Amino acid sequence: MNWLRNFMYGRYGVDQLGNFLFISYIILFVISLFVPYVGFLCYALIIYSLFRMFSKQIYKRQAENEWFLSKTTGIRKFFNRQKNKWKYRKTHKYLKCPHCHQYLRVPKGKGNITITCPTCHQQFDKRT
Ligand SMILES: [Zn+2]
Repeated sequence: MNWLRNFMYGRYGVDQLGNFLFISYIILFVISLFVPYVGFLCYALIIYSLFRMFSKQIYKRQAENEWFLSKTTGIRKFFNRQKNKWKYRKTHKYLKCPHCHQYLRVPKGKGNITITCPTCHQQFDKRT
């Protein structure tokens, strides 16, 4: 494993964009089994993600990743919320504030409670 460590020294490695490219590659690979010419896109994706992984221009790769993260904030928040909803499904309930549409997490099974939104400070009643 030493040669690998030496080889990867000073190289960029994997980040969120790298993971995204790799997952896209797998999905496209499956599609390419049924749809002609999608395979070319597969090659392009895997070459680009390998290029990023072994790149020594770390600042450029970081800038690409920042760009990717800034473009996918909403989607990543959505998936994170689904993950948390599932994780806390037995103890908490997720509600949307009726005034400012902020997502709120409230304890489950407390009956009728009055909730004060931490963002807009409006109060509303809800049964949990
Ligand atoms: Zn609110």
